[in-house]
Amino acid sequence: MAKTLMTQSRSVIRPIEPGNSAICTHCGTPVKFVARAQLRQVIANVYVDGTWNRVEHFHADCYVEANQPYGDPSD
Ligand SMILES: [Zn+2]
Repeated sequence: MAKTLMTQSRSVIRPIEPGNSAICTHCGTPVKFVARAQLRQVIANVYVDGTWNRVEHFHADCYVEANQPYGDPSD
């Protein structure tokens, strides 16, 4: 059966919040809040075979370096 692709992986870009404890999928270091630095992160919802599988976090720069594996992040 053909499935419609309403459940594709997608990504959003967000400010990094204080207390964030995610690990960047690309470089393996924490995606940490830094006061006054206004850093941003990319949060991707990853779907495998049309089913939600996991959330991945990236530093905004790392996501670009990884060639945006889950598409252009939306705001
Ligand atoms: Zn990173």
